[in-house]
Amino acid sequence: MSAMRDETDMRALQQLVTRRFALASVTYGLGLVLTWVAVAGGFYQASVASAVAQSALIVVSQLLFFWLFHRGVNLRSKDPSLTEPQVLVGLLWLTTFLFNLGSARGSLLVLYLLVLMFAVFLPPKVFIRYAALAFVSFVSMAALDYYLQRPIETDVFLLQASVLLVTLIWMCLFAGHVYRLRQRMRQRRFALQAHQDTLRGMMRQLEDLASTDELTGLYNRRRFLRIAEGDLNRLRKGHQSGLALIDLDHFKRINDIHGHATGDRVLQAFASVARSCLRDDDVLARYGGEEFVLLLPNTDAEQFTACCERLREAFANAEPEDANIEAGHLSLSIGLTLLNAGDDLDAALQRADEALYRAKRGGRNRCEPAWVTADA
Ligand code: GH3
Ligand code: MG
Ligand code: MG
Repeated sequence: MSAMRDETDMRALQQLVTRRFALASVTYGLGLVLTWVAVAGGFYQASVASAVAQSALIVVSQLLFFWLFHRGVNLRSKDPSLTEPQVLVGLLWLTTFLFNLGSARGSLLVLYLLVLMFAVFLPPKVFIRYAALAFVSFVSMAALDYYLQRPIETDVFLLQASVLLVTLIWMCLFAGHVYRLRQRMRQRRFALQAHQDTLRGMMRQLEDLASTDELTGLYNRRRFLRIAEGDLNRLRKGHQSGLALIDLDHFKRINDIHGHATGDRVLQAFASVARSCLRDDDVLARYGGEEFVLLLPNTDAEQFTACCERLREAFANAEPEDANIEAGHLSLSIGLTLLNAGDDLDAALQRADEALYRAKRGGRNRCEPAWVTADA
C-alpha cells in the first residue's frame, strides 16, 4: 500500500518536473527567437558569433538539465526541479543579451521578471537573492557601458532601474505570499494524510474484530467462508485442498458437569492445540458453538487424513488450563473431504457434514472421510 503511494508520488513528481522543464525550454526558446530578431533588426550590437555562442549556451545548458534529470540527480537533491541552476543560467544569458542590445535594452527588461517567475516557488530568502542578482546584473551593465565609454542616457537608465527595482520588490512580496500559501497547503495535506492513516488503522482493527472469534481468537465463520471461496477460485486443475468439519464430542456434558466456564476453557484449549498442529497457511475457524472448520491448501487424501488424525490425537491428550479435566477425557470427531477446482463450497461443506455425522454415529473420537474422485 505504502509502496504504491510512493510510486504514485514519484510519478506525480516526475510529471511536475517534466512540465517545469518544458516551460523553461519554451521560455528559453522564445528568448532565442528574440535574440535573432534583435540580430536581424540590427539592434544587436555584438558580433553574430556572439549571438551564436549565446544560443549554444542556452541549448547546451537545457540539454544538460535534461540529462541530469534523467540521471535521477534531481530526484535526490533538495530541489528536484533544478530550478536554481535554471534561473542562474537564465539571468546570465539575459544579462549578456541585454548588454549587447544597447539602447533597446529597456524594452526587454520584462524578461528578468519572466526568468524570476521560475524561482517563485523557492523559499523567500532564495528568491530575494536571485531578485538582487537580477538588479545588480542590470546596474552592472550600465557600469560596464561607462567603463567601455559607451554613450549612456542617465535619465532613461535611472527610470529603468527604478522600474525594475519596484517590480522586483513587488515580486519578492508575491513570492513570500506564494511560499506561505504552499507551506499551509502542505501542512494541511500532512494533517489529512495522518487522519487517513488513523482511519485506515481503525478500519483494519474493525475488520479484525468483525472477522475474529472473541473466545478462541480464531477466524469466525464469515471470514472462513470468504477465504475458502477465494482459495477455491484460485485452485488449479489437478490440485486439491482439504476441508474438515470438527465437532467436540459430548460437549454439552462437559458444560453440564464442569460448568460453562470450563466449557469455554476446553474450546480455548482446542484452538491452542490445533494451532500447534497446523501450519501458517492452514485456515482454522470457529464455525459455531463447539464446531470448527479447517481448510488445508494444497494437500491430498493421505496427507489430509494424517493431519486430521494428528489433531484428533493431540486434543485427546490435551489438559485444558484451570479446567479440572484430565488428559484422555476429551475427544472430537472430524468429517473430511477434498476440494477440487470447480467444486462448490456449499456442496463440499455438506459432504464434510455428512461424514461428521457418520463419525458421530460410528462411536465418535474418529475421522471419517467423504472423498470424491479428483477432477470429476
Ligand atoms: P456431540 O458429541 O453429538 O457433538 O454432542 P454435544 O454435546 O457436543 O453436542 P450438542 O450440539 O448437543 O451440544 C453442544 C453444546 O455446546 C451446546 C451448547 O450449550 C454448547 N456451547 C455452544 N457454544 C458454547 C460456548 O461458547 N461456550 C460453552 N461453554 N458452551 C457452548
Ligand atoms: Mg459436539
Ligand atoms: Mg455440535
